[in-house]
Amino acid sequence: MIKYNLICKCGNTFESWFASSLEFDFLLKKKIIKCIYCESSTVRKTVMAPRLTRKSNQILKKTKLQKHIKKQLIDFKKHIEKNCEDVGERFPQEARSIHYDKKTSKGIYGKATPEETSELIEEGIDVCTLPWVRDKPEN
Ligand SMILES: [Zn+2]
Repeated sequence: MIKYNLICKCGNTFESWFASSLEFDFLLKKKIIKCIYCESSTVRKTVMAPRLTRKSNQILKKTKLQKHIKKQLIDFKKHIEKNCEDVGERFPQEARSIHYDKKTSKGIYGKATPEETSELIEEGIDVCTLPWVRDKPEN
């Protein structure tokens, strides 16, 4: 015998016993299984009651971690915006001029393509990339 939790289109759930899952499928097809509340035959098996498996725990932890990382990135971004100059698209040129001219020790930030970034790194220029989080989610 096998017990299924069934849900009807009326929203009520109930339990029923069947000889086997095959018998359940057969009875369902023949519309013999009826809701005990409204007698509709539009019933289906409900998803098993959610259990906290190790897997779902991991998902939960990961989500928390992502939130934590995002918060750190937002804090870091605020710090950069407060202390460094936004040079936007001119970032590769500005980074080079700081590196070669050594005129200033100010921090800069801006945009660079992955190619430009790897060129800068090859030239020994100290740059780092980070995912630029938005304070507000995109629409
Ligand atoms: Zn029903």
